Amino acid sequence: MDKTSTIFDDVKWSSLKKDLKKTVGDTAYNNWLKHLNYVSMKENTITFSVPTKFLRDWIVNNYSDKIKNESKKYLKTIDIIKFVVKPNGGRIVPGTTRTIKSTDNHWKSTLDLRSNQTSNYPNEFGAPLDPRFTFENFVVGKPNELAFAASQRVSEADKISFNPLFLCGGVGLGKTHLMHAIGWKIKEQQPDRKVIYLSAEKFMYQFVRALRYKDTSAFKEQFRSIDVLMIDDVQFISGKDNTQEEFFHTFNALIEQNKQIVISADKSPTDLDGVQERLKSRLGCGLVADIHPTTYELRLGILIEKAKKRGVEIPPKVLEFLSHRIISNVREMEGALNRLVAHGTLVGTPITIETAQLVLQDLLKSSNKKITIEEIQKKVAEHFNIRITDMHSPRRSRSVARPRQIAMYLAKSITSRSLPEIGRKFGGRDHTTVMHAVKKIEELKLSDINFNEDLELLKRLIDS
Ligand code: ADP
Ligand code: MG
Repeated sequence: MDKTSTIFDDVKWSSLKKDLKKTVGDTAYNNWLKHLNYVSMKENTITFSVPTKFLRDWIVNNYSDKIKNESKKYLKTIDIIKFVVKPNGGRIVPGTTRTIKSTDNHWKSTLDLRSNQTSNYPNEFGAPLDPRFTFENFVVGKPNELAFAASQRVSEADKISFNPLFLCGGVGLGKTHLMHAIGWKIKEQQPDRKVIYLSAEKFMYQFVRALRYKDTSAFKEQFRSIDVLMIDDVQFISGKDNTQEEFFHTFNALIEQNKQIVISADKSPTDLDGVQERLKSRLGCGLVADIHPTTYELRLGILIEKAKKRGVEIPPKVLEFLSHRIISNVREMEGALNRLVAHGTLVGTPITIETAQLVLQDLLKSSNKKITIEEIQKKVAEHFNIRITDMHSPRRSRSVARPRQIAMYLAKSITSRSLPEIGRKFGGRDHTTVMHAVKKIEELKLSDINFNEDLELLKRLIDS
């Protein structure tokens, strides 16, 4: 048995990974090196695998030196690093090896002759647009109205109002949707204008490829005829200086030629980590349109719209329940709806709050904060403008007794506390008092629509 092959073991690999993380930083590590896997160590060659060709190229071009240096700390004899492509859970893809050799401390990247990279520089650019992502399918509410209006403006104008349009907002809030919608609208109304949509990752991929084929002019050529360029998720451009450089020049050239640019990121330009200052300020020089986290109303609106699109009948109560409880982002909410509908059709049971609770247990749990009785008391007291001590006091006047009953009711319906436990937190009241309060509020809810709405609002205040 080859002794050296066992010297580099799992323990060393985990430790090497830690070292790499330290050298390149958390962001770069998570974006790129996290996917690197150790395959084998034979004689002077250490082999790693990555799930995609894109990652392989990126790592070879940007991190092979660092990987070499760190690996050498574990095994001085390492002289050659090999990268192979192995999709997650799959087998190594033949002909994807890239070998990095060291000669006199000078490491050179060589292409494995068997690899399929002998074709000419491929001329594919941009990504297709998703037919579901149109303006018509986009539900507008307070949190996204500016971004929506700005996107519409960009897709309508032949005259440029703001350049670039920078859409920023958290994951799953509709940035990609809006960009595709811009693309569709322009294609429909001004088919002569050439629109290109691509992710920042793909932009970098194209650029790395161009470098490899020593053909950056072809890369630049692709931009020349573009009228509207949209680049999604530019936070991924962080760190890599020569790509940023290229991005910056492309960007300036297009703006000078009066071409429209639309950018998205999960942060505002000034908050982008690892991006050069001049690029940040260039990115922020048009209109920065924030997409804020969704509100209850917007979530409900989106769910109603999506349910309608799918042609399924879902009781309004269930939609309200979902909008209350799934607050992270629209994507997750859509997933919940899909799961619920699938369950309904497969099992054949009607969709109710109970089935929703059952089917979506995991999702609901994660967005279900632990709310305490004290928080409920505080919010209710604030809402009715009474003192928090009135929650415990023996006072029975209507102005404090009703809010107190409401707080008890909410404590019962939101927390998992028992009636006696709740009673104790309300100045040592008996559990029958709590039970009475719950009954009373339930009656009022049914008989008084204003009261019901007020209660819903309170619940939302406490939930958020
Ligand atoms: P982001 O790019 O911001 O991460 P996406 O644009 O991919 O988010 O949106 C995630 C999902 O949520 C998509 O299916 C999209 O259609 C949907 N979505 C987000 N916002 C809205 C909205 N306001 N109306 C309708 N669908 C939305
Ligand atoms: Mg997106």
